[in-house]
Amino acid sequence: MSDLMIYDTKSQQKRTFVPIDPKKIGIYVCGITVYDLCHIGHARTMLAFDVIVRYLKHKYGASNVRFVRNITDIDDKIINRAIENKEEPIALAERFIHEMHNDAEALSLLTPDEEPRATQYMPQMLNLIQRLVDKGYAYPAANGDVYYKVRAYKDYGSLAKRSLDDLQVGARIEANEAKYDPLDFVLWKAAKPGEPSWESPWGEGRPGWHLECSAMSMDLLGETFDIHGGGFDLIFPHHENECAQSSAASGKEFANNWMHVGFLQINKDKMSKSSGNFVTIQQILQEVTPEELRYFVLSGHYRSPLEYTLEQVQNAKQPLLRLYTALHNVAPGAQAATDNEYTQRFYTAMDDDFNTPEALAVLFDLAREVNKTKDPALAAQLQNLGGILGLLQNSPAQVLGSVNVNNLDSQIQELITARNQARQAKNWPEADKIRDQLKGMGVTIDDTAGGSQVKVGSKE
Ligand SMILES: [Zn+2]
Repeated sequence: MSDLMIYDTKSQQKRTFVPIDPKKIGIYVCGITVYDLCHIGHARTMLAFDVIVRYLKHKYGASNVRFVRNITDIDDKIINRAIENKEEPIALAERFIHEMHNDAEALSLLTPDEEPRATQYMPQMLNLIQRLVDKGYAYPAANGDVYYKVRAYKDYGSLAKRSLDDLQVGARIEANEAKYDPLDFVLWKAAKPGEPSWESPWGEGRPGWHLECSAMSMDLLGETFDIHGGGFDLIFPHHENECAQSSAASGKEFANNWMHVGFLQINKDKMSKSSGNFVTIQQILQEVTPEELRYFVLSGHYRSPLEYTLEQVQNAKQPLLRLYTALHNVAPGAQAATDNEYTQRFYTAMDDDFNTPEALAVLFDLAREVNKTKDPALAAQLQNLGGILGLLQNSPAQVLGSVNVNNLDSQIQELITARNQARQAKNWPEADKIRDQLKGMGVTIDDTAGGSQVKVGSKE
């Protein structure tokens, strides 16, 4: 087995990945703060880590890799949105956890081995704060908050490469804060009337976001674990603060490798809720298939910025059709070829810091070979290698059939439109009648939460 090289944000180098224990590889990825629908910036990060975890599980054995992705279910953003909506924060969080799970399922993301929710880890969080207070890294302030004393921790800034002096410039203490130094950050926030709160030795309150991830990751994966990841925007302050909390408490290295996924950009700007330039996962999946979105994400290296336009995502259709056509023309054999240059090249690409654009290029070379030789073992190999990326797992006949939707003869098109109108008018008998009529013409329609999927002329 060749070495896996991973780029580590902290050392700023691509290094050989050396698991602490190859039978218990731990990876923690910061998950969603559940106060709104996920947008495709989230989809990019989730899909990138999905493929990273798929490859780790393929390389080291599925049961030897423990993938943790948390849910931040208590946070200022959740509370503020709940106040706007006149909704209970817990109920709002539940609602968006449900939506996030639907999105994850639609995108065929691997289910994390653990999906801890912040509100379920209060004892561990209180324990971590107590350790930091006992060691002189944290202090309770007059207003009931507990703060981390940044200047007490000598390695602060070592992940994000920022010096305390640079950070000091522009740092302010807000009127409602009681910290001693503008750099200090909150570990525990004193309860405000009407907000969800928990008991603590420092009074009623709730945890700070950074503390949540430190407590959950160390509880599930140990005080030092293999990989900690997230979006590029989490390096500072979120991951820097996690490092400071965890290493100060344990006296150990926190995560051995830090991995960060680049931004998804719209017009050279980061896609984000705050700037208002975002497209939700549910919206994009009205326009393209989940596999097309996955292909678009994998067509760029995970660390590079990825420029989003709808057209770019739609452009994933043609290359996927080429791969599916190869599979359709040659029924994959039961026994996949493994010992040839394609497997070697695919692994070499993925071992090189998960170079998915290069891995996709190998799939196209292999598809050409399948077209030329009509060898079922090579077709099966194409499907297997695609599967490591989460691609090519659909029925070729269905994928190739559904592309004809835009070229349907006008009669079918009119019937589909009429049926949609009937559905909108909640005229279910009429809608069902038209569906049966379409069925007779070889057109099937599946109504899902994400909309109607039309399939034509399946050869199966
Ligand atoms: Zn986190």
